[in-house]
Amino acid sequence: MCGIVGYIGKRDAAPLLLEGLQRLEYRGYDSAGIAVGGRPGALRSVKSKGRVRELQAKLPKRFAGTTGIAHTRWATHGAPNDENAHPHLDGEGKVAVVHNGIIDNAPELRARLTAEGVLLASETDSEVLAHLIGRSTAETLEERVRGALRLVEGTYGIAVLHSDFPDRIVVARNGSPVVLGIADKEMFVSSDVAALVSHTRQVVTLGDGEMATVQAGDYRTYTTEGDRTSAAPTTVEWEPESYDMGGHDTYMHKEISEQAEAVDRVLRGRIDDRFATVRLGGLSLDAREARGVRRVKILGCGSAYYSGQIGAQLIEELARVPADAEPASEFRYRNAVVDPDTLYIAVSQSGETYDTLAAVQELKRKGARVLGVVNVVGSAIARETDGGIYVHAGPEVCVVSTKCFTNTAVAFALFALHLGRIRDLSVADGRRILAGLRRLPEQIAEVLRGEREIAAIAADYADARSMMFVGRVRGYPVAREAAQKLKEVSYIHAEAYPASELKHGPLALIEPEVPTVAIVPDDDLLEKNRATLEEIKARKGRILAVAHQEQERADHTILVPRNEVELDPILMGIPLQLLAYHTALALGRDIDKPRNLAKSVTVE
Ligand code: GLU
Repeated sequence: MCGIVGYIGKRDAAPLLLEGLQRLEYRGYDSAGIAVGGRPGALRSVKSKGRVRELQAKLPKRFAGTTGIAHTRWATHGAPNDENAHPHLDGEGKVAVVHNGIIDNAPELRARLTAEGVLLASETDSEVLAHLIGRSTAETLEERVRGALRLVEGTYGIAVLHSDFPDRIVVARNGSPVVLGIADKEMFVSSDVAALVSHTRQVVTLGDGEMATVQAGDYRTYTTEGDRTSAAPTTVEWEPESYDMGGHDTYMHKEISEQAEAVDRVLRGRIDDRFATVRLGGLSLDAREARGVRRVKILGCGSAYYSGQIGAQLIEELARVPADAEPASEFRYRNAVVDPDTLYIAVSQSGETYDTLAAVQELKRKGARVLGVVNVVGSAIARETDGGIYVHAGPEVCVVSTKCFTNTAVAFALFALHLGRIRDLSVADGRRILAGLRRLPEQIAEVLRGEREIAAIAADYADARSMMFVGRVRGYPVAREAAQKLKEVSYIHAEAYPASELKHGPLALIEPEVPTVAIVPDDDLLEKNRATLEEIKARKGRILAVAHQEQERADHTILVPRNEVELDPILMGIPLQLLAYHTALALGRDIDKPRNLAKSVTVE
């Protein structure tokens, strides 16, 4: 969703900014723009509807400047056109602002500025910031920006250039990510590390309510009130190459294919054979505190929420602590009872999901203990939680989550094992789960080797009007995530139900045009699941089973290797990622950028 890039140093800014924008293209956007400065005098800006390459084609031959900011816009206020693209300038062309997020009180501020004689050049909410900063007479640029931010309500990540202060870029964050990239005598800013990693691995992620002044050889961070904050850089662990497509046709395919190595990474260095448990360094939860946990509540949105459902079951099974998952987007609005004996866990790939971050902030305000399960190191949720587990999936570029989903589920298995071994899980069971975890990478590779067969099955089901996904207990979150994946990339309507609920309503939908995908592990519910298949067959429904053994009543069975029953959900989801992928491919969808969706949802 929308991107910011900024540069200040000795080099020509424009090519660096364009390259940065290209690295953010995966997030989805509708227009782009750039402004450069670096010496006293007016700023120069070019904006364009459409792709970054269209912007590039519009740049004049000479567009020199050693300081600049650039933006990819995902329109919220005003049509995607040249005028509404960012940067926005003030009336004198001295201030340029790029903004991610939404200014809620923009209508009032626009009316006020218009009454004061200001001509607004766009329909956006963002433009008010440029005028408010431009009209300020405070001494420093920092004070001018601060003054403007005091007037706005809403969410923002912004970067500001001012031609009277050519030696700096001022950035601020409230709800929308801003990262500084620290290099040698030059600095970068961005809304996403993806735009920085080819230049530097040293980054500082701003927290909410933080601002920064970035100069070629220096940076400092402070609150919007002006109090200095500490901002030691962290090192990004991802290689720039890991953002490349690596010979695959889509990022989704690449990321599905990487899962054996990704799972290996989340396990690496964490297994403790001696005590049949795992070590989770970043948890900051000692044994006494862990024993004191009476409940676990997991919060996330979309696939993160479904992985949290798998997590909750693992925690109940292995640690025997009551646990459940809830969409963070709902939790934050329902004035939930915050209980001191409950451990809250926030799940987010990017660590920037706005709804999840807002839930974390609300919980912290009420004194709750919150852990994070996130992929992006140093991200807002990682910083605002009391501790947590990094899932080490590597960068996930495709809008829909695959390898990060799997790694998050594995991270929950580690956490559940850890909690279980502090409480009542036996050494023998600890060993059994550890052995199961160790088998996962090879078993994932085995599932992936069946891709060709799954592609053929997908072609068979691609004409479905709608699809049902059913699973029982451990299989239910798998069904939910698989239905979500299919919807996201293929646009085929899909519904997930607990298999046990089928006859309580949705069985009415079953007919030959509405096939069912059933999760049928060889666990203690096998016979119950078989009965469900019978019910579907009796209504002439087509069935695709994901199972440990051939299912007689199914039209197709995708076989998955056996592991420990608790870990079944991790493996059973993987062939269904391939099913969604190949269905979308057969239907000619834009797989990496499904319509209407964005990678990390950093707005409300
Ligand atoms: N709300 C702003 C606009 O519509 C910014 C959108 C974005 O985050 O790209 O221009």
